[in-house]
Amino acid sequence: MQIGFLGLGSMGSAMAQNLVKAGHDVRAWNRSKVAKESVPGVTLVELAADAFQADAVFTMLSDDPAIREVILDAGLIASAQPGLTHVVTSTISVAFARELEQLHEEAGLGYVSAPVLGRPNVAASGQLNILAAGKADAVAAVEPLLASLSKKVWKLGENPARANAAKLACNMMIAMAIEAMAESVVLTESVGLDRGEFFELILGTLFSGRAYESYSAQIAERSFEPGFKAKLALKDMRLAIEASTEIGRALPMLEAVREGLSKAVAAGLGEKDWSIMADMTVRGADSLAIL
Ligand code: NAP
Repeated sequence: MQIGFLGLGSMGSAMAQNLVKAGHDVRAWNRSKVAKESVPGVTLVELAADAFQADAVFTMLSDDPAIREVILDAGLIASAQPGLTHVVTSTISVAFARELEQLHEEAGLGYVSAPVLGRPNVAASGQLNILAAGKADAVAAVEPLLASLSKKVWKLGENPARANAAKLACNMMIAMAIEAMAESVVLTESVGLDRGEFFELILGTLFSGRAYESYSAQIAERSFEPGFKAKLALKDMRLAIEASTEIGRALPMLEAVREGLSKAVAAGLGEKDWSIMADMTVRGADSLAIL
């Protein structure tokens, strides 16, 4: 199958290579220059429009504005070949997913929202969890491709925005778990309890989930290499707040983690893993964090 791929960042480069390993012909575009050797088997193209001529196109750009600029403003939807299915795996807003759905429908193209759970190492091992939603025929057309990138494809129905809302909700819950662990460490370390010992206690009793497991290790080791960049996590909290505002609901815990990530980014830590927010809470560092 001829596949186009837009965005060879931390996640996209791993996913494009797995599509190659699954036997597909992948033509990929990235804004800045990418070394051929870093994406073996992937054909690099000069223009986003060249990657958009395919049976299926994956988009793994960072956010709504990047997709708007690269795809919508450049008129790629209008010039796409009939029968193309566009899979947006980026974490985007619920409102933008609705807009994309409508624009693709008007142009007679398939559209699938397929945001992913899993960090770049998980993407590289083809073990993502993919949250997929879109018209049944569009999802069916790309399901084998999604399967080659993932441990499981969670099909969430015909309304693409469902997948985007579910993805934002998952990230919101991880951010809350990170902050919950950090605030607990503030209390337990104040009486001399080592954080490693405290994490062993919570993982072995009440909180054995994956988010607690993986982020407690980062907080314990103070290891904050991304992973998932704090600036992208801040974007996701903002998108979740936009979605809640749209339905007239205030979500106070969401607002608190947005504020925490915002402080981390303002302190110049936007390129660090989002668990850096926990480090700032533990150290009471509101502005400048020294690693
Ligand atoms: P990343 O490493 O920062 O890569 C971002 C990609 O978007 C790069 O290809 C970048 O191009 C491109 N880009 C950004 N702005 C652009 C613009 N205005 N025009 C054209 N291209 C632009 O990010 P990532 O970690 O791969 O994340 C990509 C998406 O996956 C995001 O929506 C993120 O929220 C989501 N996600 C990430 C993770 C994770 O753990 N990292 C997990 C799940 C979902 P350049 O190379 O030229 O900068």
